[in-house]
Amino acid sequence: MTETPAHRPTTFADLGLRPELISALTALGYEEPTPIQEAAIPLMVDGRDVMGQAATGTGKTAAFALPILQRLGSGERGRHPMALILVPTRELAMQVSQALHRYGRDLGVRVVPIYGGQPIGRQLRALDAGVDVVVATPGRAVDHIGRKTLHLADLEVVVLDEADEMLDMGFAEDLEAILAETPARRQTVLFSATLPARIDAIGRRHLHQPERIRIAEPTTADEVTPLVRHFAYVLARAHKATGLGRVLDVEAPAAALVFCRTREGVDSLTETLNGRGYRAEALHGGMSQEQRDRVMGRLRAGTADLLVATDVAARGLDIEQLSHVVNFDMPASVESYVHRMGRVGRAGRAGVAITLVEPREHRMLKNIERVTKRRISIHKVPTVADLRAHRLDLTRAALRESILGDDLDGYRVVVESLADEFDVMEVALAAVKLAHASAGPDEDDEDIPDASGGAFPAGDRRTSRPSSGNTARLYIGVGRDSGVRPQDLVGAITGETHLSGRDLGSIQINQRFSLVEVPEAQADEVIQAMRGVKIRGQKATVRRERF
Ligand code: AMP
Repeated sequence: MTETPAHRPTTFADLGLRPELISALTALGYEEPTPIQEAAIPLMVDGRDVMGQAATGTGKTAAFALPILQRLGSGERGRHPMALILVPTRELAMQVSQALHRYGRDLGVRVVPIYGGQPIGRQLRALDAGVDVVVATPGRAVDHIGRKTLHLADLEVVVLDEADEMLDMGFAEDLEAILAETPARRQTVLFSATLPARIDAIGRRHLHQPERIRIAEPTTADEVTPLVRHFAYVLARAHKATGLGRVLDVEAPAAALVFCRTREGVDSLTETLNGRGYRAEALHGGMSQEQRDRVMGRLRAGTADLLVATDVAARGLDIEQLSHVVNFDMPASVESYVHRMGRVGRAGRAGVAITLVEPREHRMLKNIERVTKRRISIHKVPTVADLRAHRLDLTRAALRESILGDDLDGYRVVVESLADEFDVMEVALAAVKLAHASAGPDEDDEDIPDASGGAFPAGDRRTSRPSSGNTARLYIGVGRDSGVRPQDLVGAITGETHLSGRDLGSIQINQRFSLVEVPEAQADEVIQAMRGVKIRGQKATVRRERF
């Protein structure tokens, strides 16, 4: 175990952000900018238009929110917004406005989220009271522009967040209409998880000499150590700590390094794990060298077997006995994934790389798979029944060892005297029960709901395989929100083409879209045939899935 000095990383202060923002970021436990932030913030602060490729989990929200807040601090505050952020969904509108509030707490930023489904009266009052930043879904923004309740004449910055999602959801015309109402001299920023031709076209039409940002990605699969097994669990945020505990119980790592994104994350997870009986130590950038040394000493001496750390704190650490690396929080870039995972599987040893993924982070996981050319299989979080079975296995193994190795004669008298009264089987059962109980109580935990039904294969999945040959995955723009069931998709496709139900592969129904596997040879025919067809009363986009 050694610690090597790391190169001096970029800090938020290096990016030229004002002190009010730095103090808010420090309070949130952010230790350093993520790659997209490091690239985008200086350009945006400089007033440049930016076109960035970034998925949820990369820190893209702060990448555009901080420069907006930076600009806000110095200017006069008017009644009308100086920034408009367009997002595809109501959830994202709420998340982005919360982020602006958190980062801008010392600047008194006035943020109004506007989205469909909320009474318009409340939004009207909020807009009327004076606002700095509006975060809106395109449909509702167009409504307000029509009513003349959203004034865009003072806009300095427009952000298109998750632009590909907005296009997929049919907001292209709304976006054009909104942008037409904004001042020509505005700064325009576009973030998108993918940059297909349609996004490029928007960039060419509406962005002024944009800087393109694509975070450097590792180039060869060899950079990820070959002997490491990679897998992931999909969990809602609220269940991640419990889920990790279960996984650790089953995996029983010799030593594990668990990555969290912030200092607060490290401290709270360490506390939770210790409360559950694990021997975890925290390591983050807020600790003194002496504290760090003490932690590393405990790990070396084997009195701790889990190290919970931020990326900054773990930089340069080389822990010999490490068997597992866990991404408790998703890494902010593929490069960071490769870097974190490089800690196991060294010198030809086998290792395990585990990632806990929140449903909305599925695109980041796909990116990692694509770039590292490594399949990250999704496992189910162990259930209470799995854990019980696992604990019984341990008891069985301990008994076996004792039968084979120990001198048991001293106990013979107990068994013999009980055997007069009971069947030997019953005596054995009672002894096993006592041995099992002494190894620790069975925790009466509740099962963790499976979150992989959202954007991941599971839940509403039909898993039959097409009989032979290659398959293509088709994206169909209707999902659970429209009440779509697998039989609706099978019915629509088999009704419009000459395919039969048996020709279709797995069907996965997500919140807003579905994925259906069809034979590659017929994929284009299906796309053609489905044009204009209604599924559950709704017309849906059908195209090849990008990944
Ligand atoms: P986003 O990709 O914008 O959805 O951000 C993903 C998560 O990363 C959010 O929970 C942010 O609070 C967090 N985050 C963003 N930037 C940083 C950073 N520099 N350090 C630590 N956490 C961050």
